[in-house]
Amino acid sequence: MTKLVVNQLAKTYGDPAKGGVEAIREISFDVREGEFVCIVGPSGGGKTTLLRCLCALHGRSGGRIELDGRDVTQPPPEIAAVFQDYSRSLMPWYSVRRNIELPLKNTIADKKERSERVEWSLREVGLGGLGDRYPWQLSGGMQQRVAIARAIAYRPEILIMDEPFASVDAQTRAGLEDLTLAVRDDVGAAVLLVTHDIDEAVYLADRVVVLSSRPATVMEIVDIDLPRPRDQIKTKGLPRFAEYRTHVLELIRATSQPEPVSEAQQAVAATLHGN
Ligand code: ADP
Ligand code: MG
Repeated sequence: MTKLVVNQLAKTYGDPAKGGVEAIREISFDVREGEFVCIVGPSGGGKTTLLRCLCALHGRSGGRIELDGRDVTQPPPEIAAVFQDYSRSLMPWYSVRRNIELPLKNTIADKKERSERVEWSLREVGLGGLGDRYPWQLSGGMQQRVAIARAIAYRPEILIMDEPFASVDAQTRAGLEDLTLAVRDDVGAAVLLVTHDIDEAVYLADRVVVLSSRPATVMEIVDIDLPRPRDQIKTKGLPRFAEYRTHVLELIRATSQPEPVSEAQQAVAATLHGN
């Protein structure tokens, strides 16, 4: 079953006639129930803009976004988001437990039920028993796990993640990737994850949406036919993994080519090099 449909989405910041920034020219793709979709593309290409449009955090210039067949015009309660900068997303003066519980107050009136939800989500991310700690008492990887716990405590149908592991070391990153796969299986939510790490995208995804450089368009949607459960060593050692990775890398490289140099630039270069 299709969960989310993005149809000919376009987004320009500001007035195009007065030097506005065309971030997204045209993006179309869909996300099925429980599917893991990764979005890769060059930096500055419009990926965060796409996620903000999906969460209806800002308007769009064209196209449609449908969740379960309904047009998305306000932040949908079915979607929870985890962003890259965990140090800014958690409130340092609240305990871990309270950080997770606060957003639930809007949706769950019963205090006991809220508290059970918090404890469940903490256990789910491997932080059971650490609810009384404060974010600043935890490592970066653990803080990001709190951010994931806060998102899944909500029981979202779609979990949106914007470069969620970009600021942790490689070892922690691999652990968080596997945690996200396990959470997806347990919660049954679809995951839409933006990354500029091609290995990460291929490792995690059922499908990878490859975006061009700005203004973003879809270059290709690649089906990742690798067995599950995935394993950091076994999966990444498969010949097919290498093939997918090379293919996506070639697409990204093609879209990231520098502009051809003009005749004037060539003349300057010739002068500088004395020929
Ligand atoms: P990515 O996440 O792929 O790195 P972004 O979506 O953050 O890319 O940005 C795409 C383009 O839109 C960039 O050129 C960026 O400078 C521009 N941009 C992002 N947010 C705004 C904004 N609020 N106002 C104007 N331009 C913006
Ligand atoms: Mg971004």
